[in-house]
Amino acid sequence: MRERERGGSATDLARRVARIETSPTQAMSLRAAALKARGEHVLDFSVGEPDQPTPAHISAAATAALEAGRTRYTPSGGLPELRDAVAYRYKRDFKVGFVPEEVAITAGGKHALYAVCQALLEPGDEVVIPSPYWPTFGEAVRLAGARPILVPAQEKDSFQVTARMISKATSRRTKAVILNSPNNPTGAVVAPDDLLVIGDMSQRRKFTILYDDTYARLTYGRGEGTVLAALKDSVGDRFVILGTASKSYCMTGWRIGWILGPRQLIDACVALFSHSTQCATSFAQAGAVEALTGPQKSVQELLAEYRRRRDFVHPALTAIPDVSCVEPGGGFYIFPNVGRYLSSKVPTSMALALRLLEEGGVATVPGEGFGTPGYLRVSFARPLDELKEGAQRLAAFLGGLREA
Ligand code: PMP
Repeated sequence: MRERERGGSATDLARRVARIETSPTQAMSLRAAALKARGEHVLDFSVGEPDQPTPAHISAAATAALEAGRTRYTPSGGLPELRDAVAYRYKRDFKVGFVPEEVAITAGGKHALYAVCQALLEPGDEVVIPSPYWPTFGEAVRLAGARPILVPAQEKDSFQVTARMISKATSRRTKAVILNSPNNPTGAVVAPDDLLVIGDMSQRRKFTILYDDTYARLTYGRGEGTVLAALKDSVGDRFVILGTASKSYCMTGWRIGWILGPRQLIDACVALFSHSTQCATSFAQAGAVEALTGPQKSVQELLAEYRRRRDFVHPALTAIPDVSCVEPGGGFYIFPNVGRYLSSKVPTSMALALRLLEEGGVATVPGEGFGTPGYLRVSFARPLDELKEGAQRLAAFLGGLREA
């Protein structure tokens, strides 16, 4: 590689940060915010966070911790009671057993991914990432010096990630495979049988499964059942779960996430935290204990509300002529195909999303951001009346493109 020139300027940045691509989601929501600030009535479906407030009992627990003076450093791995609480929740919900020493608390799910990539990956390693993908996966892998290997899932297969796809993409250099189920942006859920076959593969080919279950509690079908327990039994130390309180408990700003995995990896991540973040915010951790061990009614209500929204938005989008759309099995995103509306005047989904925002007043994220041009990601973590108006605006805008 070419020697970096010693320019001596204050902006002589390291290569690893100079090549980071900024999040397309944030770029679109910033544009939407700028239009709103000019007084335009923009409907923003670009953001990936629940519109509901954090449940009151969770906020009360954090407030009580603050008032009780629990404002000091916690252990780098997290409060012991929070490590316990995470292990308890996974046992209750997914029947999968991790001891508290196999849990580390992080400053959000993004931080969990970053730490695991730093702890596991070396330059030259490959990490298989199915596309469409959440953009941070590739960036976290590259920041650790490793190489993302993208493997496309297809709309005609309902964007299902299969064991066959993964098998074809792995090589001797494969250190890890990232599975995100339910998926951001498609909502696809990996089938239990495929998960188990990928598990067997990981043993034979010696790669780690990084299983991002950010949206697992918002699954509309049968859910995981006991497959994660079976997967852990067969895969053992090569199975790592990356999770977060952000979405299921409406706690995006709290920055609480977790890693569940083999003790050596957890200890390595905790050592990293001890020289970087030190720990996740103490009183936010206290709130997360309440979230995970207290009443779970709010999660059920959230799931019911998002199911109602999905049940509106999927038929509403597929009713638009020449738009096709896979029904999400979980999460709060839907990924309509707008490829049939592209033309010499609107050549890409990026161009279409920009015009839809400027002319139609609807913010979405173009498929380019997820490695899959020709689509838009629509977040339905917005109230039903906005979704109704948004679907009308989208239909009118696309109809107008045809006539122009
Ligand atoms: N994984 C996926 C797939 C996500 O979509 C997100 C949030 N957009 C995260 C992880 C991280 O969420 P957070 O950092 O808020 O916990």
